[in-house]
Amino acid sequence: MHISTARFGTEDIPVVSANTVVVGTGAAGYCAADRLAQFGQPDIVMVTDRIRAGASRNAGSDKQTYYKLTLSGTEPDSVRAMAETLFSGGAMDGDNAVVEAALSARCFYHLVEAGVPFPSNAVGEFIGYKTDHDPRQRATSVGPFTSRSMVERLEDRVRTRGTPVLDSCRIIDLVTDEGRVVGLLCLRTDVRAQRADDEEGPETNRTDTPRPGIAANAELPDTGSRFLLLRCTNIVYASGGPAGMYADSVYPHGQWGANGAALRAGVHGKNLTEWQFGLASIKPRWNVSGTYMQAIPRFVSTASDGSDVREFLHEALPDYGDQLTRIFLKGYQWPFDVRKARDGSSLIDLLVHRETVLRGRRVFLDFRTNPMARPFDPQRLDAEARDYLDRAGVLGLHEALGRESTPIQRLQHMNRPAYDFYLNRNPGVDLETDLLEIAVCVQHNNGGLAVDAWWHSNLEGFFPVGEAAGSHGIYRPGGAALNSGQVGATRAAQFIAAQRRGEPPRDEAGFADTAAGVVDAAQRLLVDATTRAGAAPDTTDAMLRSCTRLMSDRAAFVRNPDGVRAARDQVRRWLSDYDAAVVADPASRRSVNRLFLIRDILASQYVYLEAMLDYLDHGGRSRGAVLYTDPGGHLPRPPDGSDIDLPEDYRHLLDAGRLDSVVQETWWDGHGAPDFAWRPVRPMPPSADMFENTWREFRVDGNVRPV
Ligand SMILES: Cc1cc2nc3c(=O)[nH]c(=O)nc-3n(C[C@H](O)[C@H](O)[C@H](O)COP(=O)(O)OP(=O)(O)OC[C@H]3O[C@@H](n4cnc5c(N)ncnc54)[C@H](O)[C@@H]3O)c2cc1C
Repeated sequence: MHISTARFGTEDIPVVSANTVVVGTGAAGYCAADRLAQFGQPDIVMVTDRIRAGASRNAGSDKQTYYKLTLSGTEPDSVRAMAETLFSGGAMDGDNAVVEAALSARCFYHLVEAGVPFPSNAVGEFIGYKTDHDPRQRATSVGPFTSRSMVERLEDRVRTRGTPVLDSCRIIDLVTDEGRVVGLLCLRTDVRAQRADDEEGPETNRTDTPRPGIAANAELPDTGSRFLLLRCTNIVYASGGPAGMYADSVYPHGQWGANGAALRAGVHGKNLTEWQFGLASIKPRWNVSGTYMQAIPRFVSTASDGSDVREFLHEALPDYGDQLTRIFLKGYQWPFDVRKARDGSSLIDLLVHRETVLRGRRVFLDFRTNPMARPFDPQRLDAEARDYLDRAGVLGLHEALGRESTPIQRLQHMNRPAYDFYLNRNPGVDLETDLLEIAVCVQHNNGGLAVDAWWHSNLEGFFPVGEAAGSHGIYRPGGAALNSGQVGATRAAQFIAAQRRGEPPRDEAGFADTAAGVVDAAQRLLVDATTRAGAAPDTTDAMLRSCTRLMSDRAAFVRNPDGVRAARDQVRRWLSDYDAAVVADPASRRSVNRLFLIRDILASQYVYLEAMLDYLDHGGRSRGAVLYTDPGGHLPRPPDGSDIDLPEDYRHLLDAGRLDSVVQETWWDGHGAPDFAWRPVRPMPPSADMFENTWREFRVDGNVRPV
């Protein structure tokens, strides 16, 4: 890393130069940094908005899953079989599927060697279990915080290597030159304003214990500038999912994403319409999957002030056994799946949506009381649920207690740590006495920035990895996101170390010239927005609330085309007025931070909303985790076929795989409307060649070449 400064107007901005900048300190970013050094490219600098933020470090679930090739037992598995599973999710490129399968064992063992305690048996087999969309038993876990363990172990390795990490740097813009990336512009959120009254608390709900920081910010010259430039040959973009787009979210606080900057710079998006949503508590943010549903709690809703508590599921699910079975099934059918909306467990998500979004009420899980105000009667459950609860010892609880069990007793019996988890959170929730507020929340972006088989984007030198990359299709096995992040990071590092080792393409003077446009725009936005603060109140908080609420109400897992169009129009207006209207408090680091954050979010929202509309124009129907309202479609029905009173918004037709073999790609110039193209998925490359041929080519260039 080499540090200089460059003058822009009256401002001296520090410029950090390195071969490769890794954005993001999550599981994917740390893996990339570790691999780059391992493969012989140690000239790296990492940059992040908060070292301790991100989904990998702060998110988890009942049993957070890592997906990998089968590495135990007698059940046959192969690279091709795993690739087929990934590919069968639909709208997934075959080369990415094969690479994710081929590097799965290598990346898994890399984590094992780094110290992630994946369980193995006495003879060393890494035992697996079956996860959703998985025909075998490829999943593994280290408990609720698998991805945090990955981050911490990889971080240790990066720290040992002495890789510099620049903290408190929000990505504002990419610096590009003739189709290649040459650098990055960041806002430094650690640089103080003139007044000392800007001490807002951190914007994360970090759940881990403090560890010593490794920030290298002290090495930057103190020029007083709030901006920082990075000059480089390559960027590995591990900024995570664009979580900041939605209000109802189970992404951890403080994970925002930076896809807007990449899209504005012309990086292609892919499958942007595809997200995952599911039931989650909102304070604290946590998926209520697994045992939280298998304990079969009661669902209640209230008015916004907490009054008028009432059950609501029975309005659409009046049959006791049917309602309880669907609640139970949500345990392992966690993400909303539109195929299960008509007569399966996903109707529960829709009924929660009706309460929260359409009726403006709040929804809570009540573990104190059985559903439908009746004693728990397991005989009315379907055989699958009854059998599971019997094997888990829940049916015997009745005799032990001398009376019918309650949801909290079933939860504590099956999974005491799940009960303790909420007790020990901040804010703590005692499920014995308190209601737990939930919503259908966004959890993961399956689509993202388009990559090839080396996780190289269309912008030369720019490698999106982890959740920022759009490597998944419509469905993916649970745990495949974490595998994909490690594989993408490894591939990008291999490619860079083999093919892109050179000095940054622009020398310092040339770089300053190239960066002048984005720097000038950022300086003007900052000056104009903060100057207006003299005459008008700060608008950043209200703006952030409005734009994220709009997305959750209009463009989450229920998308009425009219609602999506209205949201697109509104976001387009906000975006075009933004520079002239936004007001930010110059004395508040948080306000200045949000000034640039909101611009990034609006840019993402706009392109994503246009992608949804293009999907509909292309004849797309409900698929994956999204229900598109269709007046010619069907409403969900109970098993006896009787009519239930449901909003017309839920009328839909299934896509049924019609668009599985094509991919929607998007590109934007940052000004007009984005362009779209639909192309066939890239096929799976042919099976491995014979050893001698592979070896001969390997001796030439390590087989680091286009697939
Ligand atoms: C509740 C929950 C449960 C999940 N469970 C599973 C599971 O069981 N299995 C599975 O495979 N996946 C799961 N996922 C998804 C998976 O956790 C994520 O996809 C993965 O952790 C993303 O890793 P990453 O390194 O790409 O990004 P992250 O870990 O999110 O890291 C992003 C990094 O970029 C930084 N950053 C973000 N925005 C900016 C910006 N604008 N400027 C500068 N820096 C920025 C962040 O601070 C952070 O350091 C789950 C996700 C959630 C939310």
